[in-house]
Amino acid sequence: MDVQYLKGVGPKMSELLKKIGISNIKDLIEYYPRTYEDRTKLCKISELIVGDNCLFIARVSSSMSVKRIKKNLAIYSCFVSDETGVCKLTWFNQSYIREKIHEGATYLFFGKPEWNNGGKNVDSAIVYNLDDIEKVQGVYPIYNLTAGVTQNYIFKLMNLVFSNKPSIVEFYDESFRKKYGLCEINYAMEKIHFPKSFRDVSLARNRIIFDELFLLQLALLSRKNSMIRTEKSTKFFNVDITEFTNLLPFELTNAQKRVIDEIAKDMYSSKIMNRLVQGDVGSGKTMIAAVAMYIAVKNGYQSTIMAPTTILANQHYDELNKYFSKLNINVEIITSSTTKKKKENIISRLKSHEIDILVGTHSLIEDNIEFENLGLVITDEQHRFGVNQRLKLTNKGKSVETLVMTATPIPRTMSIVLYGDLDLSIVDEMPAGRKPIKTYVVNDALEERVNTFLKKQINEGRQIYVVCPLVEDNETLDLKSVEMLYQKYKNEDFKEYNVEFLHGKMKNKEKDEIMQRFKNNEVNILISTTVIEVGISVSNATVMVIENADRFGLAALHQLRGRVGRGIHQSFCILKSNNKSVNSRQRLKIMEKSNNGFEIAQKDLEIRGPGDYFGIRQSGLPEFKLANLLTDIDILNKTQEAAKEVILNDPTLSKHPKLKYILEDKYKEQLFVKTT
Ligand code: ADP
Ligand code: MG
Repeated sequence: MDVQYLKGVGPKMSELLKKIGISNIKDLIEYYPRTYEDRTKLCKISELIVGDNCLFIARVSSSMSVKRIKKNLAIYSCFVSDETGVCKLTWFNQSYIREKIHEGATYLFFGKPEWNNGGKNVDSAIVYNLDDIEKVQGVYPIYNLTAGVTQNYIFKLMNLVFSNKPSIVEFYDESFRKKYGLCEINYAMEKIHFPKSFRDVSLARNRIIFDELFLLQLALLSRKNSMIRTEKSTKFFNVDITEFTNLLPFELTNAQKRVIDEIAKDMYSSKIMNRLVQGDVGSGKTMIAAVAMYIAVKNGYQSTIMAPTTILANQHYDELNKYFSKLNINVEIITSSTTKKKKENIISRLKSHEIDILVGTHSLIEDNIEFENLGLVITDEQHRFGVNQRLKLTNKGKSVETLVMTATPIPRTMSIVLYGDLDLSIVDEMPAGRKPIKTYVVNDALEERVNTFLKKQINEGRQIYVVCPLVEDNETLDLKSVEMLYQKYKNEDFKEYNVEFLHGKMKNKEKDEIMQRFKNNEVNILISTTVIEVGISVSNATVMVIENADRFGLAALHQLRGRVGRGIHQSFCILKSNNKSVNSRQRLKIMEKSNNGFEIAQKDLEIRGPGDYFGIRQSGLPEFKLANLLTDIDILNKTQEAAKEVILNDPTLSKHPKLKYILEDKYKEQLFVKTT
């Protein structure tokens, strides 16, 4: 039912309520308090705690004095006492107080005592009659508000709704609730708004948070389960990968070997692979992908790898082709800059299976790209794609193995929620010989010194990236900032050097050309937006300068920093920022201290909260009303266990019709993504 039809709401209020997300009764019931105020304890005056809200009974022991300080400032004050002591009460300009309380009478007061002239004083205490004590004493919900909507108003609406005893369908059976210590749903909904004690609050919150996390887990697991249950039509046979790995100029790290084993095991099993490979920037995920593709190709299947940018796709193509060409494995690439003629050629050779591996960007998803028998789909930098795009590619083959790679280190709690439907492999080791990148936070005052340092690096033969922030909704401003920086570097500080720039609005061909020249060391300084953020690997580049660094999230800064430190030379990251706020300084300092992506991601999450976390929003993370991925880890673990058990015993939820109904209702769009 629309809230507009509640008594006392009307069209005007209903507009205001919409602003805070309340359109119907269900929204209202789920408009949980932000916090609670403790009005449970009655204090004696001697027990009043300075700085805490206190509820106390006292007798008015003096007459009301009035001081007029200025024309519009009147201070009313009086003393109150009980058998333990005396306290002063003060009100500003609230003349009605003179009518409300009388010397010699006893009242109930609520307020926050402060020290004043050696005694305790309460400003603007709320005064109740003693008869009201039943109503007043308890736990008070505090709601988030908007202009025109007061605490009292929401309180009244809640009263109205709950006085009609709404009946919410309980979707757990009793044994389940007992097992996980959950209270009944109607009880939880009432107590979250009308708790008698903090125990009520915690029971209710526990139930509601459990529901939020559990239903999501269940949705993810049931999706995963429906995929796992798809048996492959043919199993992969074992492949000797040494023919491929022997071609590499380096030894694979132990982490790479372990993850390759995990992948191979999936591929050789009778179940379809759905695996997420997570590893810090530079941990060598591309080689892992290459081995997986090698296994698929040797089994007679085609493979494809999708990257978020043309530059990155080209880089993958070059690296893969370097080795696969020696093994008679055909690699091709499709991006938005592929010519029509070339594309037609690729499409026809793809259908006749003359191409074994197709590298590309989003262009791969287009309907006319058809494979003869696609066996493996890899998405690189998955956080840049939506789940839909991944599934669309997977649908180009029957029972396709899926590998998803990401360098955005996601804290564990987050990855359970985001990728609960994928098995997880972690590449937790860097190739040997890498030196940790040295990071410095600087402001404009140090510009001269920074420039001198940059010149020194260039004179030693190294190359430099300069990145400036990308403002999502103002592309023109962006271009200007790249171009402005370019002018400054090119015409003022670095006249004798080769400076080039790169931004998302340039034609792919131009971008590729500049990137190629940078790779060939024909460009000393490359100025760009975050288009170079993911994946690019130029081992001779040793300095990453980030302008207005405070405008980036830590995870993004870490990604950008990962563009350097890829070779044998010591690398540096210089974070420029003139932002003086403590919070911003503190954030950037974390970058100076840590080179560990997971640690940084965790800190970023703590500082910014899950909602703003880099790249997560478009990945379809649902927003929780109460659950907090940082603090509710215990409940999260419990829900994961519970969801596993339910799905194991009842994979299609046919024995849990109510649960199934709730789940489909809640996640029909977000999670059970239609793939057609
Ligand atoms: P990311 O995990 O960020 O995708 P890449 O796959 O781009 O990392 O690898 C980064 C660089 O490290 C590449 O130049 C790659 O050739 C190199 N590399 C990968 N594995 C190893 C290894 N085991 N030893 C040395 N270098 C490696
Ligand atoms: Mg990569």
